[in-house]
Amino acid sequence: MDGLLIGPATRRQAIAAGLCALAILLTLALAAPRARDALPPVAPFMPMCALTVFTTSGIAAFLLGGRFAATRLPMLGALGGAYAFTAIAVALQLLMFPGVFTRTGLLGAGPHSAAWMWVFWHAGFPAFVIVAEIVRSRAQAVESSMAAASTYNGPRGWLLIAGPAALAALLGGLVIAVDFAQPWPAPHAAEPGAPLAVHGVGVGIGLMNLAAIAVVLLKGRLRLVLDLWIVVALLASFVDVALNTLSVERFTLGWYVARVFSMFAPGVLVCVLVWEVTALYRRLAEEHASLVHSSAHDALTRVYNRSYFDEQFRRVVDQAARAGQPLSLVMIDVDHFKQYNDAYGHLHGDACLGAVAGALAGTLRRPGDFVARYGGEEFALVLPDTNADEAGALAERARAAVARLAIAAPRAGGHVTVSAGCATSAPVHLQSHANGQAKASTNASALALIEAADAALYAAKRAGRNRIARADASLA
Ligand code: GH3
Ligand code: MG
Ligand code: MG
Repeated sequence: MDGLLIGPATRRQAIAAGLCALAILLTLALAAPRARDALPPVAPFMPMCALTVFTTSGIAAFLLGGRFAATRLPMLGALGGAYAFTAIAVALQLLMFPGVFTRTGLLGAGPHSAAWMWVFWHAGFPAFVIVAEIVRSRAQAVESSMAAASTYNGPRGWLLIAGPAALAALLGGLVIAVDFAQPWPAPHAAEPGAPLAVHGVGVGIGLMNLAAIAVVLLKGRLRLVLDLWIVVALLASFVDVALNTLSVERFTLGWYVARVFSMFAPGVLVCVLVWEVTALYRRLAEEHASLVHSSAHDALTRVYNRSYFDEQFRRVVDQAARAGQPLSLVMIDVDHFKQYNDAYGHLHGDACLGAVAGALAGTLRRPGDFVARYGGEEFALVLPDTNADEAGALAERARAAVARLAIAAPRAGGHVTVSAGCATSAPVHLQSHANGQAKASTNASALALIEAADAALYAAKRAGRNRIARADASLA
């Protein structure tokens, strides 16, 4: 689970999150004294930010919901709920905002509806993060590998996400139905950038964000990747509230910076979630490549294994026939290997086989050539587009390469040697055959070549070992 959202945070991730947190606090320190400075008004800035918050919160809720469905960890579902709440709340605030879609706002909004939606949005997010931390104990049990007992298997898991979204919609209905008094005395009606501090609403919401940070720190102790980035998101949310509280008017420095941080809170989680998908994809590709490699290779000798040989050899025979090229096969067997094992033990025998395989592989030059462990202490060299003379020369090179290893053998003064049998199929064209016939012919050619190489190998053994022998006639 290393590097994943609910995996332990690495040092690098902790540094990255720490730098982000520092940058956020630094921005607050720089912007706070000049929060009320007026800047040129950009009317579409607020709707643009709100739309971004809606989109990124929606994506964060969707991705966290997906992680919850996959892991059944209630904390992930509850965090998805926090973002689902944000998405609906900000969407309603945008619709109700006076002067965006209509002069008074859509949905029959009252003059203070948008301001109240802003309050609920900024209070709801830390509140639902605290809820997620309350259900966190289950996730912690998973960390200590009690996965089966700690995951949530109840049938209503989707409520963790749909519930907060529905609550945001309910609150939207409430602020429209009840003409609440303005949450703060604003110089401009329904202005979220009004002096919240006067009524303590902004201070209260700011404290809620700080409380949520404290709960995450206490419960999670920044051990998980998720802990780090939730704290960064909450910090961004806190700075958003703080700068809104400090800036009195719309289009002031504090107001603009607060809007940027409102986008940052969901954005940071989306980035982390997408980064996690990328990391998973990379890991999957690596695992797949290693699986493909190990399924085709022999673990002991690291050359190709028998199943790769069986599949690939038939393909090579077929290709040779289609291209009208010769194909050579060299069967190689370690001489008196039973004696070697009996004398030095199987572990030394294994090491010897590894060294022999390495020497054989080292003699191959062309990209199409390959060596496979045919079985036990037998190897096969497959040499496409190689005639009998070339194959004989290569077999001799392979024999000499093993002899050069000079691995001590139990026979007096002897070294480990190999015997080789070479066979070459003559070029035949298969194009004229029907599909079924061509397949049967390929199989027959493959078997004939193996039998011929095998027969040559035993001829080499009979002739005294440590030598090569060639099959008598070219095979069709
Ligand atoms: P010859 O020269 O006739 O080939 O004699 P040989 O002793 O090599 O032939 P035999 O078939 O009698 O013995 C083959 C030996 O190879 C027996 C078996 O223990 C050994 N062998 C096969 N696979 C492995 C392996 O993976 N590791 C080890 N250490 N030995 C193996
Ligand atoms: Mg042998
Ligand atoms: Mg053998």
